[in-house]
Amino acid sequence: MLELEKALETVLASIPAPKSETIPLADAHRRVTTVKVVAATDLPPFDNSSMDGYAVRSKDVASASAQKPVSLTLAGRIAAGENFRGTLSAGQCIRIFTGSPLPAGADAVVMQEDTRTDADRPHDIQFLDSARPWENIRFHGEDVKRGAVVVHAGDFLGPVQLGLLAACGTGRISVACRPSVALLATGSELRDAGSELAPGQIYESNRAALAPLIAVAGGLPKIFPIVPDDADSTRTALLHALADCDVVVTCGGVSVGEMDFVKRAFEELGGHLQFWKVAIRPGKPFVFGHHREKFLFGLPGNPVSAFVTFLLLARPALLRWQGAAHVGLPASTGILAEPFSNPGERRHFMRASVDGGGKVHSAGAQAAHILSSLALANGLIDVPPKTTLPIGATVQVLRWEQ
Ligand code: AMP
Ligand code: MG
Repeated sequence: MLELEKALETVLASIPAPKSETIPLADAHRRVTTVKVVAATDLPPFDNSSMDGYAVRSKDVASASAQKPVSLTLAGRIAAGENFRGTLSAGQCIRIFTGSPLPAGADAVVMQEDTRTDADRPHDIQFLDSARPWENIRFHGEDVKRGAVVVHAGDFLGPVQLGLLAACGTGRISVACRPSVALLATGSELRDAGSELAPGQIYESNRAALAPLIAVAGGLPKIFPIVPDDADSTRTALLHALADCDVVVTCGGVSVGEMDFVKRAFEELGGHLQFWKVAIRPGKPFVFGHHREKFLFGLPGNPVSAFVTFLLLARPALLRWQGAAHVGLPASTGILAEPFSNPGERRHFMRASVDGGGKVHSAGAQAAHILSSLALANGLIDVPPKTTLPIGATVQVLRWEQ
């Protein structure tokens, strides 16, 4: 049976290089860049005031205090967005606002609260405090220098990156195309939620959980109808899915029973199975294959097996498809508040609940069909075979986007 790392290596090595498209920055949330972007302008683009107040020559107000105010002549006003052409001369000041460009000749801004004016002498500004040279001034390029790298190829664009890119003047950006992902559930016992159940039937739940996981990994999920367990239906469903989408994710029908048709149907359509069975719990019967340029991720049907194998093996592939630099699950460090025990032969990704202080509890029953403990979990702990991790052990908690 394949080790998880080997399986992941095989999957990632099969994924083609990303294709790019250029889109408006406003549409680029959660996309992955395909090129590095450099700042088109200094940030800030010009020296400007960090206060509402008066631009001055600092030496003109060097002796100013509340007891002995210094008086300067108001020579103009610069609103934010305006460009002042003149130069400040000795004995003058200029009304200025936060973000207004600093006028030539000025080397400090005195905040409004440290000044006084008399209504009958509006051009005579009294300064009640001195100013150090360059006080209350924000320099061009002090945040980002023109030409500096703002995002690297393979970076994921979150709100913070989008804000920085916009500030540096990026209007359109090159991002990876998203993979379209067909999502199929197999099983003659499955019915859509909301319909009536006959004896022996259950509600299909994997597509509901997997579609959002596909979407947050950048895939475009396309939900297909439930596929009954027979050879023809499985072949037909796979044929349509392969024709429609870049990637096919199925769940169920990959075990050893004579009612498990996915592997056989895929091969009959000309698909090539690259591996079947990975040495993990839950999710051992996972299968990966390709059909020309298309890929099959055959997840086991048990809801927790489908969820965990998606996170460990399909999510990284969708991210790699987009050229993402990091494809592993986000992780945090935690301390076990109770022992985590794995008496089995395969490593067990156990459902855990981590509190705000990093204390890790079991999320409950760990069997592969128990959804309620998955709903209480916010992480997975990788417990090696035949191992008990003791209370107080430091562990990595694997997380997923909620
Ligand atoms: P299978 O992998 O097809 O052998 O299914 C394993 C178990 O998971 C069985 O109990 C199935 O009824 C259940 N199962 C399979 N697919 C789904 C699904 N899409 N939603 C809910 N349960 C499922
Ligand atoms: Mg089945």
